[in-house]
Amino acid sequence: METAAPDSRGTDRLRVPTLWAPWTGCIQNPLLCTDQFLFPSFSKTGEFIWSEDGENRAENKQDHRFRTVYLKKKKNMEAEKRQRKKASMAKHKNYLKQTIKASGTAFLEVFHKLLEETNANTDDVFQYLQRVYHAIFFFGHINNPQVNPKDFFPADAWNTIQNVFQRPLAEYNTHLPSQTPYSILLEYITKIHGGRKESILEELEKRNKEFLVNFYKDEKNQLQPRNFALSATVISHSCVNKPNSANTYGSSIAYKGTVPRQIMIAISALLVWDKVISYEVRCKESGRGIQFPNDVCCDSYKFKTSNNKYKPVCPCTKCYESYIVKFDPKFVKTDKQEDWPHGNCAETESLSNLLRDNEDIRNAVHTYDNNKEIVNRENIIKRFANEHEDELQKEVKRLLESCRFHVNQNGLELFTPAAFAYI
Ligand SMILES: [Zn+2]
Repeated sequence: METAAPDSRGTDRLRVPTLWAPWTGCIQNPLLCTDQFLFPSFSKTGEFIWSEDGENRAENKQDHRFRTVYLKKKKNMEAEKRQRKKASMAKHKNYLKQTIKASGTAFLEVFHKLLEETNANTDDVFQYLQRVYHAIFFFGHINNPQVNPKDFFPADAWNTIQNVFQRPLAEYNTHLPSQTPYSILLEYITKIHGGRKESILEELEKRNKEFLVNFYKDEKNQLQPRNFALSATVISHSCVNKPNSANTYGSSIAYKGTVPRQIMIAISALLVWDKVISYEVRCKESGRGIQFPNDVCCDSYKFKTSNNKYKPVCPCTKCYESYIVKFDPKFVKTDKQEDWPHGNCAETESLSNLLRDNEDIRNAVHTYDNNKEIVNRENIIKRFANEHEDELQKEVKRLLESCRFHVNQNGLELFTPAAFAYI
């Protein structure tokens, strides 16, 4: 940074960073080299701030020559500023696009490897891959900037992909995914490990590490591992505290970006989750909590990238107030900001899956009205339909259309994979 000698008033007259070197030529111009003409100074963020003296003098219409030069220079600098901002936004968009492409590619590589290493049968391979491909294509499509399905594959693989995965390619911009790719991965891992928690967490730790290695490698070390767009930070496990009880799992919403997350939560509430869960999520702060039977437990685990391990984590305030179950670890009130939306947490999916798989619990859950009277399952479902469904439909359509998603004339439809045709 160059600094001129103090002016007659003892203040630094000229502070011009190297970037602005051409400006130093101005001090040769007698018109500009006056005590009153002050160059812009720079804020901490590098933005120029025009001096008050210069502005005041430019306001004076009698000082015509000064006014003309000053305003011209100001206009030029503002145009340069706009151009720099535009270039920086384009660079940022390009980086975002790279992260989505590399995330999708890394996810598909790891998922293929997982299916191969676990000797998945042909039907499973075809079903799971179609769902994962569709969910990734959908995410690329609604993302800003948009990523096309072709961008996730090397050029020489594209013909095969087009032939084998016709349905995901035909429907990624007309049909909705019922789960994020990570939730589909968790479902497959739960299946191959027979619901055993320790094995599931171990398998996930292994695959999470592979995601980051592949993601980082793919873009020649240009990407930050934290920008991997398809991972879930938290996994949740729900069960009934009885011998041989079924275990269900769920992941937090694993899409990067505010709008894709909002879309996935809205789709899940409308078309995927048990409606008792959807009702509670839609009620937000005014919900009274879903009362589960006393022996229902829920424990969650957060993935730490520092050591590639899961660590037990207590529920957030939203989950603690929404789901009345035995949490392990217990809820602890903290001052931490919880800025994620209702329905984002892994507990939502794992408890919804528990209701899906267990009829007794499904029939036993209830909530309370404003007079603390019990509202049973049947009435909760009616309330959801009457008070929330229409509005939620509109919200999903509005969100999707804002992302260039074509909503079918038949309404909102979930993607279902094609059956494998044996030749
Ligand atoms: Zn939560």
